[in-house]
Amino acid sequence: MKDRNYGRLTRLTGSNNGKLHEECGVFGIYHTGSRRDAASLVYYGLFSLQHRGQESAGIAALHDGVIECRRGMGLVGDVFDHRAISALRGHAAIGHVRYSTAGSSSIENAQPFVSRFKLGSIAVAHNGTLTNADVVRELLEDAGAGFTSSSDSEVIINLIAKNYKKGLEKALTDTIKFIKGSYALAVLTGDAIVGARDPNGIRPLCLGKLDKGWILASESCAIDAVGGNFIRDIEPGEVVIIKQDDVLSFTFSEKTRRAVCAFEYVYFARPDSTIDSVDVYGARIRAGEILGRESAVTADLVIGVPDSGIPAAIGYGRATGTPFGLGIVKSKYVGRTFIAPDQSTRERAVSVKHNVIASEVRNKRVVLIDDSIVRGTTSRRLVSILKAAGAREVHIRVCSPPVRFPCYFGIDTPHRRDLISNMNSVSELCASLKADSLAFISLEGLLESLDRTGGGTPAAKTDRLQDRTFSSGYCLGCFSGEYPIPVAGETLSQTEDR
Ligand code: AMP
Repeated sequence: MKDRNYGRLTRLTGSNNGKLHEECGVFGIYHTGSRRDAASLVYYGLFSLQHRGQESAGIAALHDGVIECRRGMGLVGDVFDHRAISALRGHAAIGHVRYSTAGSSSIENAQPFVSRFKLGSIAVAHNGTLTNADVVRELLEDAGAGFTSSSDSEVIINLIAKNYKKGLEKALTDTIKFIKGSYALAVLTGDAIVGARDPNGIRPLCLGKLDKGWILASESCAIDAVGGNFIRDIEPGEVVIIKQDDVLSFTFSEKTRRAVCAFEYVYFARPDSTIDSVDVYGARIRAGEILGRESAVTADLVIGVPDSGIPAAIGYGRATGTPFGLGIVKSKYVGRTFIAPDQSTRERAVSVKHNVIASEVRNKRVVLIDDSIVRGTTSRRLVSILKAAGAREVHIRVCSPPVRFPCYFGIDTPHRRDLISNMNSVSELCASLKADSLAFISLEGLLESLDRTGGGTPAAKTDRLQDRTFSSGYCLGCFSGEYPIPVAGETLSQTEDR
């Protein structure tokens, strides 16, 4: 098996100098029949994962034992046209969309990475962040491995390559046992695609079925997009190897404990996805209802900050009897403003992104629901434009608890000093946003909105409400500062010690 490199197709051994693997989406297709258009299905799958990453996109396809890859900067539709997709023939393919912090936006960081070594070639698409990449890299370098980038994905690919002589299964197990952090992986080998999820399942990954074939996807909405059927979530600590009609599954770690990122439900995932048996839309509606129960205010209208604030505004309206309206329009064509490199650019971008429907809010007491407040840029601007449009009062309700701590596992939450809730009390923040009132959902309320059991017995409910850590099944690190995996300088959740 060898890599081919022609035209605009590039053979990639990876050369990354920036910070990598923030919020991303992965997708894979394996046709068991005669179809050779896996790349075109991956293209559609990546389209429906575009919300997970808009900086770069890439697809690696396997044809007659050869892995070909194309990556580029921009949206899926910018990187791939009909010709590019047709050039990527093959019965198996994986793809990646990437969303990074400012400063690391370059083609070298686009995925999938492809590596060629003595026994074959592999391609890797990774969503997540490794916390021990530097250490593993040093060990590999001491053992003679060559690195061409600073990417943690290159660590993964090099480890698999190093262990490949033991066979794919053992190579994967050995690799995965070595790496720490969050990862949802789609791997393409000479004859298989492989999905793997870290022992805490921090990033989502699920398995779907085609008539004659299999799908791996970060979110279930991408399985729907290619006409597949959702089969199940890949479990924390599980590896799934898909080869012809065989789907081999094994658990590589005895110590697994689900701690799926709560922010996936709050903000990141698409509302038509279901992650680990919790439907994202339903969770957002429930968060709004709970906010209504916890911090109702007399008002004439409730509006949501598009997109993720809207279901919560519907829920809040249902719970409190406040009429729900649109009130704010979001331009569909502005990317996520969050990643703009400096505050003034971010503020300008936010102005283009949102506008008010003045006739809807004029002379009204408005409840404004957002999914989160991170730096405060969005809420400050929205209060100002709502008031300028004639809103009499603006009450902010937020369906996540205050974000006070950074995320080390793949969500782009900034440094602690930039997290406005870390630097201010709720009343200070309210004053700084010039809102008439401000309230966040409680941590217990958030957990209730994410409850997989639909409430459970009263005893279970009490347990859950007392359980403020990740043993609830969720990583709540950005709210509580307690992380499911040790992070230098941070508190490890005490449950880890038990
Ligand atoms: P901020 O404007 O800095 O307070 O950020 C909060 C807004 O950005 C909310 O409207 C969220 O929908 C959105 N947001 C929250 N977290 C993220 C993230 N990690 N990446 C991009 N946008 C985010």
